[in-house]
Amino acid sequence: MSVDYLRISVTDRCNLRCIYCNPLGDCGFIEPKEILRFEEIERITRLFTECGISKVRLTGGEPLVRKDIVRLVGKLATIPNIDDLSLTTNGVLLEPLAAQLKATGLQRVNISVDSAERESYKQITGFDLLRKVTKGIYKAIEVGLTPVKINSVVIRDVNVSQIVALAGMSIHLPVTVRFIEYCPTGKYTKPTSDYLPNREVRAIIERTYGPLSSVVMGHSHGPALYFKVKDSDGAIGFINGRSSIFCQDCNRLRLTSDGKLMPCLYSAHTYDLKRLIRNRASDRQMRDLLKRIISEKGNYTKLSSFKEEFSMCKVGG
Ligand code: SAM
Repeated sequence: MSVDYLRISVTDRCNLRCIYCNPLGDCGFIEPKEILRFEEIERITRLFTECGISKVRLTGGEPLVRKDIVRLVGKLATIPNIDDLSLTTNGVLLEPLAAQLKATGLQRVNISVDSAERESYKQITGFDLLRKVTKGIYKAIEVGLTPVKINSVVIRDVNVSQIVALAGMSIHLPVTVRFIEYCPTGKYTKPTSDYLPNREVRAIIERTYGPLSSVVMGHSHGPALYFKVKDSDGAIGFINGRSSIFCQDCNRLRLTSDGKLMPCLYSAHTYDLKRLIRNRASDRQMRDLLKRIISEKGNYTKLSSFKEEFSMCKVGG
């Protein structure tokens, strides 16, 4: 599998307090001076594109709370050889920003929504903001930040009742609703026993909508498996991150907001790119390292390097 995908966390701050991700809000905030500046993100991204990266996703924390995020998108959009520039958001701030993001070069968005019902959305995220998120979804479709993907994490005893409604969004809207298996990340989030395998999610969907048929998605370069309810506008995806292992197909690297490059979500091993660029490493030195990181990525897999605790909010999912 060629490594061509870089996920960049632009902040560790988030405007939601999802019970499975960042329930306390404070995940040990990174000091502002340690957060990568726009020109540093731009330089690292450009160097990575010179080493084979062609897909870039901005994430967080919540990327839309980063001041001037539209300006960063504009800078990244001018880098040659990026053929897919996307962003993952909770959608709360999306409606007013969607048109500007599209105009400056963002191609598409993934929007995280774990409930289609106001009260349970509030229970999961801590905030009564589902209406804003829904407006963000419609706006993203309207301005062409497409294909829009909806990301949903299902937690036992929390939002199982929402599975049918979430999957149902794919019937009448041109969106792909993806169910992401819950990954326990530590003592402050939900316990492992709250994990619900996607085969159970699929069974619940099929009991209501009938058998799902497998589809191939043009924009899919990740681990999701895609299906359709008969005659639907959109699609349904399953990301079985816990019940299966897809390390051999993993094409992604992750850059944290303080400049640590992670070759594997589950590995404690990181490369401190910020320290190098702030110590004036040349483009050539950086490229040599990035090429080595890419070639050695296969050494770090879920099985070889599982770490018990980490903050999804810091890493960016
Ligand atoms: N704030 C943005 C958002 O809500 O999409 C971006 C950051 S969030 C960490 C990125 C993705 O990670 C979201 O789709 C979220 O549902 C997912 N995520 C967070 N914690 C998770 C966990 N413990 N297991 C599985 N997915 C998780």
